Parts: sequence; C-alpha cells; structure tokens
Amino acid sequence: MTVSVLKPKIIKPERVVTPQCCAEVEPPTHATMWRRDRYKKLRPQFDPDRCQRESTLDIEGKPYCRIHAGQLALDRWLSGELVVKEC
Ligand SMILES: [Zn+2]
Repeated sequence: MTVSVLKPKIIKPERVVTPQCCAEVEPPTHATMWRRDRYKKLRPQFDPDRCQRESTLDIEGKPYCRIHAGQLALDRWLSGELVVKEC
C-alpha cells in the first residue's frame, strides 16, 4: 500500500501576544465613561484610556500599534527628524 500526501496540511501560526499600544487616546467628550466601562469589559487587562490595539512596533522603548507608530514616524519625517539612510 502506498500513501502519499496530495494536499499539505496548513498549520496556522501561533498568536503572538504583545503589550498594549502606549498611545493615549482622547475620549469623545460626551462618552468618557461609556468608553471606560465598555473597554474594561472587553479587555480588562488593557488601560481604557490608551489605544486598544496590541503593539507591533517598538519606538524608543515604547510599544505602538502600526497606526500610531505610523503617525509618529510621519510627524518626525515632516519635522525633519528622520532622514533617508544611504545603503
Ligand atoms: Zn495604537
């Protein structure tokens, strides 16, 4: 008897848990308590006053999600803090 694999088994990569994004988010003035209550229920380990995404990048020792890291990088680029590195 011959057994051969025709379709490879797809192995889903394991989830990587990273710290919460450190960006502070301004709550809407009319819904401060709603935001705090809702996000405390959804993710009790996360600070409800900060961005609710997990971090994907580290900038100068602080964890950021891609959105807030991108905003920070763009601000620094526009202010001239970032320069093109010659390869
Ligand atoms: Zn963020």
